[in-house]
Amino acid sequence: MKLNNGLQRVMAPCKKRPMALIVQKFGGTSVGTIERIRHVARWALDSQARGDDIVLVVSAMSGETNRLVELATQLNPIPYSREYDMLIASGEQVAVGLVSLAINTEAEKRGLLKDGSYRSRPLLGHQIGILTDSIFSKARIQEINTTLLRREIAAGVIPVIAGFQGVDPDNNITTLGRGGSDTSAVAIAAALGADDCEIYTDVDGVYTTDPRMCADARKIARISYEEMMELASLGAKVLQIRSVEIAAKYKLPLHVRSSFNSVEGTRVVPQEMLGQAGVMEQVVVAGVAADVGQVKFTLQNLPERPGVAAAIFGPLSASAIVVDVIVQDVPSNGLLTISFTVGKGDHLKARQVLETLKTTFAQMKIVEEADLAKVSIVGVGMQNHPGVASKMFTLLAEKSISIKLITTSEIKVSCLIDAAQAKAAVECLHRGFELHRVE
Ligand code: ADP
Ligand code: ASP
Ligand code: MG
Repeated sequence: MKLNNGLQRVMAPCKKRPMALIVQKFGGTSVGTIERIRHVARWALDSQARGDDIVLVVSAMSGETNRLVELATQLNPIPYSREYDMLIASGEQVAVGLVSLAINTEAEKRGLLKDGSYRSRPLLGHQIGILTDSIFSKARIQEINTTLLRREIAAGVIPVIAGFQGVDPDNNITTLGRGGSDTSAVAIAAALGADDCEIYTDVDGVYTTDPRMCADARKIARISYEEMMELASLGAKVLQIRSVEIAAKYKLPLHVRSSFNSVEGTRVVPQEMLGQAGVMEQVVVAGVAADVGQVKFTLQNLPERPGVAAAIFGPLSASAIVVDVIVQDVPSNGLLTISFTVGKGDHLKARQVLETLKTTFAQMKIVEEADLAKVSIVGVGMQNHPGVASKMFTLLAEKSISIKLITTSEIKVSCLIDAAQAKAAVECLHRGFELHRVE
């Protein structure tokens, strides 16, 4: 991504502190009703009145993107990509229209508008030049043109930008993957050289596990980019993983907080700002994540010869399908079995790709298991503590939860289980590793 080096800041004569440029991102629930939208408008204007430059990035109203996905799949279970992205990006257009309208209406009430001037301007991804690659539904931002944004900010306008969307080199509307407004906000903040990026959501920070799944969850005051990336990649959808990667790359501080109160949230910061040890180094297991909605494919009767795995995973990756836990069994009778998981959004597409491989592997049998969940324990502290994985298996066994696949890395252990048992698994792991005692 090409970035510009910070805005030219104008120092206001009577201000106690220099102006900051703050990007504020509001998620679906935060703009879910007209009353919530009015609140966002007042919040943005109040923030600006304190002397800062404000840029908003908003998601579609809660439930809207799901509704659009459902409409598309009624017509075609694997919708054509260009049309699909055009459709599912539209929820954000409604949201920016409403939020910007609310800001201008409130600004008028406050006597801030003079002679047809405006205090806010709604902008879609293509209008400001959020350029992406052409991987529909999982597009990556390549460049953001900040010229128009800078001009509006300098004129005291609050740009309200549609999250989740961009435009590819062929002028197609693209989307950045579910939860992608976080990534839009962080990328825009990085491109503008913003001082802070505030992610307003429906919980008041990042917790030791999803507070909606486990009443014992504890809020984490500060967390490093690395730790947050691990939690996000394992299913803690409070931040889209890509947004944390960009924040880490540009050392942009993130503040995850609630739009329902003004409580201090969680700061996602560089490791060095956490002192000697990161939050997670102080404990063996620092977080539990659950990714509900996994599908397991088992491919049986594959020939045992070099290149088989490449012949399978190459086409899957060419179709932009993200494959997770992969297990290859020891061959018996010269035949191999390979199992792997994909997210439920990729289920049908993965099946379609695998069916085409039957021309190469005539004997291959495809077995599918849906409605699974991946539960993971995460913590850099576990590197030096043997027995963490076996404790996890024991805790799950005590609740009669069977494990279908296991993967480990130095700082995490993941188990694939039935989705119906995900909540029980999260609760027992959270308590078993004493996360309810985290201060
Ligand atoms: P938004 O629409 O604001 O982007 P999301 O639904 O995408 O909100 O993300 C917020 C949700 O993330 C919370 O409601 C919570 O259920 C979930 N979540 C999962 N793991 C965590 C965690 N470790 N800490 C906080 N929230 C989490
Ligand atoms: N509206 C999109 C979604 O529901 C993007 C987002 O919410 O961040 O995934
Ligand atoms: Mg989200």
